[in-house]
Amino acid sequence: MTAPRLRFAPSPTGPLHLGGARTAMYNWALARALGGAFVLRIEDTDCERSTDASLQIILEGLRWLGIDWDEGPELGDCGGGAHGPYFQMQRLGLYREAAERLLASGHAYRCYCTPERLAELREEQKANKSPFIGYDGRCRDLTAEQCAAHEAAGRQPNLRFRMPTDRVIQVHDLIRGDVEVNTRQLDDWVMVRIDGVPLYNFACVVDDIAMAITHVVRGEEHFLNGIKQLLVFEALGHEAPRYAHIPLILNAKGAKLSKRDPGVKSVLEYRDLGYPPEAVFNYIALLGWGFAADRDVFTRDEMVAAFKIENVGKAGARFDLEKLHWMCGEYVRRWTVEQCVERSRPWLEGVVPADVLAPGGAHQGWLRNIVACYQERVQILSEFGDKIGWLFADPTELDDGAQKKMQKHGELAPEWLRAFAELLAAGNAPPSWPADRSAADRAVRLPSPSGGQAQGDAPPPATDCPFDTPAAIEAQTRAFCDQRGIKFGHFVHPLRAVLTGTDRGPGLFDVVFLLGKETCIRRANK
Ligand code: GLU
Repeated sequence: MTAPRLRFAPSPTGPLHLGGARTAMYNWALARALGGAFVLRIEDTDCERSTDASLQIILEGLRWLGIDWDEGPELGDCGGGAHGPYFQMQRLGLYREAAERLLASGHAYRCYCTPERLAELREEQKANKSPFIGYDGRCRDLTAEQCAAHEAAGRQPNLRFRMPTDRVIQVHDLIRGDVEVNTRQLDDWVMVRIDGVPLYNFACVVDDIAMAITHVVRGEEHFLNGIKQLLVFEALGHEAPRYAHIPLILNAKGAKLSKRDPGVKSVLEYRDLGYPPEAVFNYIALLGWGFAADRDVFTRDEMVAAFKIENVGKAGARFDLEKLHWMCGEYVRRWTVEQCVERSRPWLEGVVPADVLAPGGAHQGWLRNIVACYQERVQILSEFGDKIGWLFADPTELDDGAQKKMQKHGELAPEWLRAFAELLAAGNAPPSWPADRSAADRAVRLPSPSGGQAQGDAPPPATDCPFDTPAAIEAQTRAFCDQRGIKFGHFVHPLRAVLTGTDRGPGLFDVVFLLGKETCIRRANK
């Protein structure tokens, strides 16, 4: 039995989108599931559009998702395998040789038609509403003398593949099942351009043969290319690999992705926005494939163990941003708070003061408490940075929600807030404070800032809260409201508004606890 060998063959002409990442992932997973090799081949024959920048973006995107290759770029001189080089522009000799064989066997021919003639032909076919749009075969049967005459006139040929005119090709696609295509609808396509550079369908087959590829998983848009390629395999006397053409990714409404759809973002844009890579990996895996009816969250290893290409669906997979966000949240919640702090660090920079952010600094407990308050509330890591600015700078204005809440109790609110400031300033704990940690008491599931103090650290500036726990502050505040005959449910809204500038965020008493006495008094009095 031949060893399974799969490949991902991107053209470095743009970023790695989710669709490309999915193709890479399914090839990778199948290679790993079958115990075979996963090859990364760079199809860079479109010299005008291929760039090193795109290549780097693709490689970085794959690395970020944890899709590693056994052979290909950046794996030492020979690319980690015996089938290199892994860039098509470094393999031109192989294509030349194969093209000569196909010319000799009559499967290829020289075409001297000029670009102008081909453009006219296309216009004509369109104007006549011809059912067939494509090359009309004018040079298909040129004699050696006719070719020589063209060359003598200084014309160089493109090489075209001679397609059978009326043959039914039967293919078994691992996803689409048995399909028949009549070659009538396919024209004689250009294999090698005048400048000697091969085009995709030809170079791809030469490489799939030379690299001993056994399975090809790629997007459905290549299905008809697959028919052309099968004929090249046949012409070169080689068995074709097994094909699996995966359905398109559609938008949430079931339509083709447009340029503005979030589904067409580059993988690295997701990275920069703070989507956890393992969540993005997990989500992409589900675009057309299912792990289990009752489970959507799984690890890379679990995917490999369960992956069968036959189980990829035939219908287009819908890209659902909400589900991707949900998936990210699932991962964020599985981390320890320390992991959350570490992984959100790049997005905390610039929001959290450097001395608070400094690893091993005096404020680590406080920082952990802050992050812990948001762990249940964020889905992507940049949200940590986006949501916590109010902790470090007094709000200069109230957002719409907060303003509404203030207006509702407009006359009484200033009086309540002044009294609350006095309460904090006094800061005496009544003996009835709950000793246990209530459900609302999430902020202190970590060593609290006072714990830091007990170990001899300098007390962080904003953790001078006179109470031990958010629950204790809440109990005190309820008692305070009772005494004054204020409805607790009314009181909390203006308080949150002035403390945070918004009407959303963590539990109000987590807020008070995190801000600390001085800051709360200042903001309440203001
Ligand atoms: N370079 C082609 C692409 O990026 C590869 C298609 C294939 O896998 O054969 O679409």
